[in-house]
Amino acid sequence: MDIILFGPPGAGKGTQAKILEDKYGLKQLSTGDMLRAQIAAGTDLGLKAKSVMDAGELVSDEIVIGMIKATINTAEAQKGAIFDGFPRTEAQAIALDNMLESCDRSLAVVIEMQVADEELVERIVKRAEIEGRSDDNVEAFKNRLAAYRSYSAEVLPYYKAKNLHQLVDGARGIDDVTINLCQILDDLS
Ligand code: AMP
Repeated sequence: MDIILFGPPGAGKGTQAKILEDKYGLKQLSTGDMLRAQIAAGTDLGLKAKSVMDAGELVSDEIVIGMIKATINTAEAQKGAIFDGFPRTEAQAIALDNMLESCDRSLAVVIEMQVADEELVERIVKRAEIEGRSDDNVEAFKNRLAAYRSYSAEVLPYYKAKNLHQLVDGARGIDDVTINLCQILDDLS
């Protein structure tokens, strides 16, 4: 089963993806985590991506599509993947459809996790204290939120037209959101 967790920065996509990985044997594929790993390893790709990420803007389609291509069909992802932070453009969404099709898979659902802006700011400030991410500051966060508004308006209609979109209230506690997500996934399988 392949699913997308879609939502603004701080919506809880990563937290929920990790819980669902264990429960359903799926593999979380987070392009943000992959990019941060490249930065930590000091690769050329990481160096290129860092300034774009720190500004809260989007890195190129080519880079993120390449990273998903390299991981989508690994042994760990055979039971399916949880796409977290990908796709963020229609071109990425089309590329994902093609990549899944070439391994005889298709998306089961795209779950939008909705959280109000004020709550997101609070969560990001807390995460900055815990994780120390260089893009978890107020200025970059504003850009990331603006980017989210713009790319969600591009990507969500693509999935709504395919009847794959479902909405979840992500403002509740972690356990309540997990219960909601599991209901959706259990109904599908
Ligand atoms: P995230 O951890 O998903 O919030 O991503 C952190 C940053 O990585 C984003 O603000 C973007 O700069 C970059 N990024 C992650 N995923 C993508 C993507 N699918 N397309 C473009 N940029 C991305």
